[in-house]
Amino acid sequence: MAIVYHPEYATHIQFRHHPESPERLEYIMRKIAGLKLSQEITTPEPATEEDILTVHTEKYLNFIKNFGTGYLDGDTYIREGTYEVALLAVGGAISGVSESFFGNKPVFSIVRPPGHHAGPDHGGGFCYFNNAAIGAKRALKMSERVAILDIDAHHGNGTQEIFYESPEILYISLHEWGIFPGTGFHTEVGAGRGKGYTVNIPLPARSGDSTYEEAFNTIVMPILEQFMPNIVVVSIGVDAHYKDIMTGLDLSSAGYLSIARKLLEFSEEYCNRRLVYVLEGGYNGLALSEVVGGVISMFEGKDIPLQYEDVRDTSIKGKEYIEKSKKILSKYWKL
Ligand SMILES: [Zn+2]
Repeated sequence: MAIVYHPEYATHIQFRHHPESPERLEYIMRKIAGLKLSQEITTPEPATEEDILTVHTEKYLNFIKNFGTGYLDGDTYIREGTYEVALLAVGGAISGVSESFFGNKPVFSIVRPPGHHAGPDHGGGFCYFNNAAIGAKRALKMSERVAILDIDAHHGNGTQEIFYESPEILYISLHEWGIFPGTGFHTEVGAGRGKGYTVNIPLPARSGDSTYEEAFNTIVMPILEQFMPNIVVVSIGVDAHYKDIMTGLDLSSAGYLSIARKLLEFSEEYCNRRLVYVLEGGYNGLALSEVVGGVISMFEGKDIPLQYEDVRDTSIKGKEYIEKSKKILSKYWKL
């Protein structure tokens, strides 16, 4: 079993009743234990400052390190130990990338705190350092092209900022339109040499399985096939699930697993099964653990019975939005 996890992730508590809580990973680890998969779990080392500096500024690193106690933004709190556990989350992403890259196998890094809202010189939105971005940078040391696919319900503004001018790292995001952090317009396509290598597919509330299916078939998979990455890093948030009340998206567990199936098959055909999932958001423990457990079972060739598989969007609710993205991206890709 290809899982990266550290028990110390449970020590990260922002404040009481914060949705990004230790219970999230407790749900996942309980689910995995119940699935009776092979039981080997990799425990990561904390990332080094040198790792952090591959995507963040020195000023920002020192700011977080010496922050003390208090609010980084209205939703993100720092206290004693936050810096250390944030380094451990980055370490989890790096460890996942290395294991997948050298082992030619899919890996799931079950980490927290999440990372995709952390940009070069800022954190926020429950994030301190950008785990997936630093993992992708590590992968780029060993390869030429890395794709990051972000299926958290929120736009990964931090990841986008970090790689906005980079043609070596493709960033694709599907997210709900009009919610935090307010970025990820169709027209944000990258800049300079990176033009065309940022792909945004904002979706209206109530978009679910059929909308994601359409977006993957007509935009995401064709672009991945043309980009030909050496490894795919998936920023997975399960907050696009209909059970998750944080956002208005309506993916079912079956919808998530259908995406996971496409990505696994893609990795088999194009990049030696090099595929790393890095956990971002997802605040309903039942949905979160069902999806993460389902994805990891799929790595081992097993199906699990699903509880949350109502398909609530059968009529491609986000069709117009997808067409808009497609039109803009057709300048850069054959779609
Ligand atoms: Zn999110």
